[in-house]
Amino acid sequence: MPTELLFRQDAYLRETPATVEAVNERGGIILDRTVFYATGGGQPGDAGQLTRADGSPIAIGTAIYDPEDKSRVLHVPLEGQALPAPGESVTLTLDWERRFKRMRIHTALHLLSVVLPFPVTGGSIGDGDGRLDFDIPEGGLDKAEVAEKLNALVARNADITERWITDEELDANPGLVKTMSVKPPRGSGRVRLVAIGDIDLQPCGGTHVRNTAEIGLVAVTDIEKKGKQNRRVRIALA
Ligand SMILES: [Zn+2]
Repeated sequence: MPTELLFRQDAYLRETPATVEAVNERGGIILDRTVFYATGGGQPGDAGQLTRADGSPIAIGTAIYDPEDKSRVLHVPLEGQALPAPGESVTLTLDWERRFKRMRIHTALHLLSVVLPFPVTGGSIGDGDGRLDFDIPEGGLDKAEVAEKLNALVARNADITERWITDEELDANPGLVKTMSVKPPRGSGRVRLVAIGDIDLQPCGGTHVRNTAEIGLVAVTDIEKKGKQNRRVRIALA
């Protein structure tokens, strides 16, 4: 059975009851559902705790997609933890402080791609900081100027909304692709679109805040030259 990804419907869900479906030989715990974001798209998997029916905790270090079946999430316990048995009822609780910082940075990186409308070649999200790599032919980016534009977008208090559309709907609305900053992936039948007010629209499977006001003040900490055409722009929550 695929793991039900509750974070896709509600990124603010911090806890859920769940049932243990399996524990694989490397100790990865598979549940029927999860609030843990699994490593992907430059964002690390969530950490937190699994609480057994008798109240004993199992510390979870990260969550990843099962390499043998990408529709399932493995909750990877820290070393030396007791493991639950299949069929056990547990409660899964997220390290919310860390996740929320990642949500703020992730959403801020969407805005950064609006400030710098160039092809993105890479990126990563940390606990309160993050970066995007851009394919920019000319240099001359000014940290203060980028920060000012970025914070102006944050200050617009724009709502972030998500909706799913099918490949057919996408084909029927060619204008949609034109307004998007990133081309949606094809083939899986449907795409999740993330809109930040009328500022940005792009396909994304990540976790976002509900309103840009929650990002708060952002600093541009570094603009680094990476090869001839690449600029690495680092930001941090101020
Ligand atoms: Zn996103």
